[in-house]
Amino acid sequence: MGKRKSSKKPVAKKVKPKLDTSFNCPFCNAAGAVHATLDFDAERGKVSCGVCGEEFVSIIDRLAEPVDVYAAWIDACEEANNERNVQQEREEQQRRERERDERPRQRPRREEEEEEEEEDEESR
Ligand SMILES: [Zn+2]
Repeated sequence: MGKRKSSKKPVAKKVKPKLDTSFNCPFCNAAGAVHATLDFDAERGKVSCGVCGEEFVSIIDRLAEPVDVYAAWIDACEEANNERNVQQEREEQQRRERERDERPRQRPRREEEEEEEEEDEESR
């Protein structure tokens, strides 16, 4: 013993809050594979996936953070998905309408056939 305890409490070194610059990839779902790089001089922020190679570039301002570029990428992905869904729904509807148009054309023909059968019975 004899050692005097320092009155000063050892303060944990304050770690600078590091901005999160790695995200999950919306394309291949690789966790933390997407890294963002911000070029404030060119006002361009880029996110790219180190696994599948997908990348997205967005215009940024001086206050932009990596997550902003990533969020813009996700928004763009969702928008593209929505457009694709709308397109699919439209095609599906067109196909259904085409089938509907074809069906009534067959029905009158069957009625005609029935009439013809009746006529055959009468003539017999
Ligand atoms: Zn990916």
